[in-house]
Amino acid sequence: MKVLIVGGVAGGASTAARLRRMSEKDEIIIFEKSGFISYANCGLPYYLGGTITKRDKLVVTKPELFRDRFNIDVRVRSEVISIDRENKRIQVKNLQEQATYYESYDKLVLSPGAMPRKLNVEGEDLEGIFNLRNLEDTIEIDDYIVDKDPARAVVVGGGFIGVEMAENLKDRGLQVSIVEFAPQVLSFLDSEIVIDVHKAITDEGIGLNLGVGVASFSRQADFSPIDVHLTDGRSIEAEIVIVAAGVVPDNRLADACGLESGIGNSIGVDDVFTTSDPNIFAVGDAISVKQMQSETEVLVPLAGPANRQGRQVATLLSGNTLINESSARIVQGSSVVKVFDLTAASTGLNERQLKKMGTKYLKTYIFPASHATYYPNATNMTMKMLFGEDGRIFGVQAVGYDGVEKRVDVAATAMRLGATVYDLQNLELCYAPPYSSAKDPVNMLGFTAANILKGDVKVFYPEEVDALIENGAYFLDTRTTIETDLGMIDGATCIPVDELRGAIDRLPKDRPIYVYCQVGLRGYIASRMLSQNGFDVYNLSGGYRLYNNMLTAGLTSMNSGETIRELPISNTTSSEVQSEATDSAETVTQVDATGLSCPGPIMKTAGAINAGSVGDVFEISSTDPAFGTDVYAWAGRTGNTVLGVTKEKGIICVKIKKGTHDAAENETLKAANPTEDHDKTIVVFSGDLDKAIASFIIANGAAAMGRKVTMFFTFWGLNVLRRPEKVSVAKSFIEKMFGRMMPRGTKKLGISKMNMAGMGSIMIRSVMKKKNIQSLEQLIDMARQSNIRLLACQMSMDVMGIKQEELIDGVELAGVATYLAEAETSDTNLFI
Ligand code: FAD
Repeated sequence: MKVLIVGGVAGGASTAARLRRMSEKDEIIIFEKSGFISYANCGLPYYLGGTITKRDKLVVTKPELFRDRFNIDVRVRSEVISIDRENKRIQVKNLQEQATYYESYDKLVLSPGAMPRKLNVEGEDLEGIFNLRNLEDTIEIDDYIVDKDPARAVVVGGGFIGVEMAENLKDRGLQVSIVEFAPQVLSFLDSEIVIDVHKAITDEGIGLNLGVGVASFSRQADFSPIDVHLTDGRSIEAEIVIVAAGVVPDNRLADACGLESGIGNSIGVDDVFTTSDPNIFAVGDAISVKQMQSETEVLVPLAGPANRQGRQVATLLSGNTLINESSARIVQGSSVVKVFDLTAASTGLNERQLKKMGTKYLKTYIFPASHATYYPNATNMTMKMLFGEDGRIFGVQAVGYDGVEKRVDVAATAMRLGATVYDLQNLELCYAPPYSSAKDPVNMLGFTAANILKGDVKVFYPEEVDALIENGAYFLDTRTTIETDLGMIDGATCIPVDELRGAIDRLPKDRPIYVYCQVGLRGYIASRMLSQNGFDVYNLSGGYRLYNNMLTAGLTSMNSGETIRELPISNTTSSEVQSEATDSAETVTQVDATGLSCPGPIMKTAGAINAGSVGDVFEISSTDPAFGTDVYAWAGRTGNTVLGVTKEKGIICVKIKKGTHDAAENETLKAANPTEDHDKTIVVFSGDLDKAIASFIIANGAAAMGRKVTMFFTFWGLNVLRRPEKVSVAKSFIEKMFGRMMPRGTKKLGISKMNMAGMGSIMIRSVMKKKNIQSLEQLIDMARQSNIRLLACQMSMDVMGIKQEELIDGVELAGVATYLAEAETSDTNLFI
């Protein structure tokens, strides 16, 4: 059999190589109009950016290898110009010699790829405006940059190629602007998931013009820059323009010989890639495929499907059958892209597509760490899963720094094999601390989705918040004060989750409660607690973090994302510290807060800075994505100055100079203006673990805000301050009895509700540990370091027979007068 193949890259080269492996006797000829076959399209932007340094690395297989190893006749610079179906022959133009000839076939495979979409605007053909499709385009762009040394570039289109080109031109030293007609880049992601990508782009100093197109190009004189005129009336000057506005299937040959077309002018094929002529097959970007979940015809111009399809056609041509013919042309659209340090990946359908199809769906958001947070440099990722009421998975998207594509690949595999969200819970995935967590993010997607489906938790979403606020809904913020101080939903009632049990009576039973926390976990815990106590509760999926991101990006209202936006280039770039630099001779104290989740990094920052002197400089590293923003709010309130924020591979480094609002200065300020008192006093009456944790979280939060805090421990609260070891002191019989019956030290404290003979406190401690929330012991330590006054009530000690030697270090004995004197100058006094 004689098989001719048109196009020698992804689909064509795969067909040829596989066919030879399956059949030694067939005659195989590849026709390729460019000078190269089997080149790495996907690597072209990275050659232009300088990451791939050698041009020949882009050529995966040379024609000689095809000839010698596979006995395949490769004809480069040979354009197939027509197909004569009746006589089963093609006409070929030898582009080197400009001669044409015919070649007959038994079977013909078309893999001509796609063509760059034209803008069809004036000036599109000016010198300096390029498309990037093949190796020859790459060489042309490279030569132009070397020759003309352009300073500014405009990239038209924010798809994969546009975003990759923007990054690579920036790496090449150019100042870059992206112009994208849609309200966002990377249309495979939903608008709330792409927010991090927009930030990564603008953080690099790249101009991002969204919701605006190119009206025309012009140039004043021969050597002057190109004016890129936008549809909103603005113009951007650039010396080079890359047009990456998408691709259209190249069906010119097929169309001219009367083959039936598919959607979007693609070459029409059946489930096994046969065109309307049984002797002609087509694969790759030129054909349409069947989307896995929707079963609709779509165009998916990606390398994976093209290679796979070439292989499948070769299998059929060699007389073999496919294992599952009906699914051969099914594509789910798994894709990944690098955006500087960030990775964005997706598989399946996104929310926009589901809405358009009118499909009913549910969704869940999680923000897991890339690996165990106690192992260094864990970074967070944002994940979203869309699923049906029957548990069927429609799509998964993720953005982050590490391990993003691994999780999306696992989800893609599960989806391909027909798994449901319930199956994701049971996937047994590799785990060791440097790589993952015992509950992998993919398992977590399964858990959260299954919780929703089983009705364990009712959720609401960020885009519903505005309407709920308008309708006067009751919001319950379960975060700590240090978090709520940095922003919260208007009108929400704040009760940290650790205090919720004690405050349950304050909550309304006659209306729904909309609970939220930072990312959804504490909200979930609160939802479970409240729903089991008879409340109608909804938890905010994605938490305040997602809501706030969407609010800032203008995505919470109904017409969100429709407007033209020029996203400002960030002040902070990933590679430089901002201008108010420190003296190079100055010592900088390093504070490692990586792996801690909110409010851990802020607490650690406050602890370190409070221990320093005015003018000291600290560099805090954190992997909590919110830290870069939170720290500005915190510093503003506490009189410290943020000198700069840098970000690399998800690790945020913040330089802060200690300001004048330290304790001593506060004293002076207070003396000068006695009405400016913000001291806090807390009476700790309870010896319950959860209440003790809540008191110390509040106390530490207030201390972190620069407030003077006094905690007065009385009656059962004294047990919080007891040393864990037995201390030998003289006691009366009654005192000894009391001593034996009361918990000795923090580790022995039970929780106020659902203690279950100590199981409750073990469970709470374990959850806190996993979430990197400081334990009670750490919180007490922090309080001592922050100079929080710990007063033990002398009278209660006498009553309960507790001696000073039995108390931990740093505790002062005091009477009620000392406490009252402190309370008089405080603006908040809590009784816990
Ligand atoms: P192509 O690989 O484009 O090959 C078609 C070949 O046919 C061309 O070389 C063309 O010269 C030749 N040809 C056309 N007509 C004729 C004719 N009449 N006679 C002779 N020869 C002809 N996909 C991913 O999955 N991941 C990525 O990261 C990624 N990055 C990309 C980056 C860039 C810059 C580009 C351009 C594409 C990228 N893609 C990526 C897409 C991927 O390269 C394509 O989906 C894939 O190459 C399609 O394979 P194909 O065989 O259909 O077409």
